[in-house]
Amino acid sequence: MKNKHYPLLIIGGGPAGLSAAALAAEHGLACALIDEQAEPGGQIYRAIESIPEPHAKLLGSEYQRGKGLAQAFRNSSADYLPETRVWSLNADLQIGATRQDQAYMLSAERIIIASGAMERPVPFPGWTLPGVMQAGAGQILFKTAGLVPDNGVVLAGSGPLLLLLAWQYLHAGVEIKALLDVTPLGNHLTALPKLPKALLAHHYLTKGIAYQIDLKRAGVPMYLGVSDLKAEGDEKLQTVQFKHRGKTKTLESELLLTHFGVIPQIALTEAAGCRHDWDGNQQCWRPQHDDWGKTSIEKLWIAGDGAGINGARSAEHAGRLAALDVLQSLKLIAVEKRDQLSKKDRQWMLADRHIRPFLEAYFQLPKSLLTVPQDDTVVCRCEEISAGEIRAQVNNGHDNSNQLKYFTRCGMGPCQGRQCSNAVAHIVADCSGKNIPETGLFRGRPPIAPLTLKQLAAMDVEEQT
Ligand SMILES: Cc1cc2nc3c(=O)[nH]c(=O)nc-3n(C[C@H](O)[C@H](O)[C@H](O)COP(=O)(O)OP(=O)(O)OC[C@H]3O[C@@H](n4cnc5c(N)ncnc54)[C@H](O)[C@@H]3O)c2cc1C
Repeated sequence: MKNKHYPLLIIGGGPAGLSAAALAAEHGLACALIDEQAEPGGQIYRAIESIPEPHAKLLGSEYQRGKGLAQAFRNSSADYLPETRVWSLNADLQIGATRQDQAYMLSAERIIIASGAMERPVPFPGWTLPGVMQAGAGQILFKTAGLVPDNGVVLAGSGPLLLLLAWQYLHAGVEIKALLDVTPLGNHLTALPKLPKALLAHHYLTKGIAYQIDLKRAGVPMYLGVSDLKAEGDEKLQTVQFKHRGKTKTLESELLLTHFGVIPQIALTEAAGCRHDWDGNQQCWRPQHDDWGKTSIEKLWIAGDGAGINGARSAEHAGRLAALDVLQSLKLIAVEKRDQLSKKDRQWMLADRHIRPFLEAYFQLPKSLLTVPQDDTVVCRCEEISAGEIRAQVNNGHDNSNQLKYFTRCGMGPCQGRQCSNAVAHIVADCSGKNIPETGLFRGRPPIAPLTLKQLAAMDVEEQT
């Protein structure tokens, strides 16, 4: 891999990256796909090639779709660099990556970022206790190792993935002690005007309803409109406390899995210096891009959930659109051919996205959850900075995310703000009375993933003249 130069590099082996690579290779473009996982599939189709068949069945029919995508990619001439993590990317399209404990620099003529989404980190009292994890972690253990909780679990949060995991666990025989839904009940009304359009993609709705019916039939206690979620325990989680219909309730559990929706992973676009916008409907930052996925940086595209949350099917088509535009930019296909080849993908995407405005309105998280963690709640886990310390600095006049970073070290730890930047933006805006876009986004700094000094020192970099 050392100092290798590629005509096209794709970062991320989920639906967006796999379809982009297969299409680019089909048109004769030499390309390589980098992914930190050991096999293709991304988040949704994680471990799709190695999972035992009975486990794959428990994950539902949508999961099985990944087999075809992974196969098409394997059949293509695209190079595959698995277990390779990108830790830096700059506007000159130079990439720092680590593989098998070695760090490398790579470069490319064109790059498509397809690094997907991450679960939205939401600080709440007790969220750092051992025994409290994100639902995605539970799902990853299930997909990659067939591991499920053996002593019951409380699931809490909001969004379709929470329901999906509950359903998957139910089928795997896991005891679900309770499902605590923090989605505000008022969202039912605000989402209602978006329902007619959502019915055009009714398969998503029917699937969600079917999951709920299965969970109800199985007797899973489901609490709607939950607030004031707290995880409590001395050394580790012992109880989960919450408010439901005005009453405080407590459940005993060793495991709490939370999920508050997904947001684009923007570490790479931030590192490269792309422009980002605040998306009020999705309550997150996302990189600016045109309708081919081209970012504000020349020769750099973004496809899939990393560009804004639209789901796996849409990601597949977005990957193809980005690859078509790359091919056209390299004069490997004409503009007319690109436009003609993109028609079906655009039609699919349009149809698939009918559901999005409804989902975004229905699963809007309450302001109380996003902006009001108690003063002693840790917000930046790496540097252990609390909500109170952030508020104190805002009250001292530091009402900008980057100023806060300098004064508190918030966002300067190993995760480089991935876990806290959204929460900080909400707290600063709430405390200062500003809008989130005014408070700014943490400036990205490489390495965006942990890198040891040994790896850095051993790196063989060509001298630039
Ligand atoms: C934890 C989690 C679980 C999910 N489970 C489901 C599910 O079961 N069903 C569902 O419908 N949707 C699920 N989603 C949503 C789903 O991931 C997306 O809709 C869809 O996968 C988006 O596809 P993508 O190609 O954009 O990105 P992804 O599928 O997320 O693929 C991105 C890939 O890029 C890799 N990557 C990221 N950063 C780097 C880096 N720096 N270096 C190297 N590789 C990198 C990731 O490991 C991943 O393999 C999940 C999301 C998350 C965060």
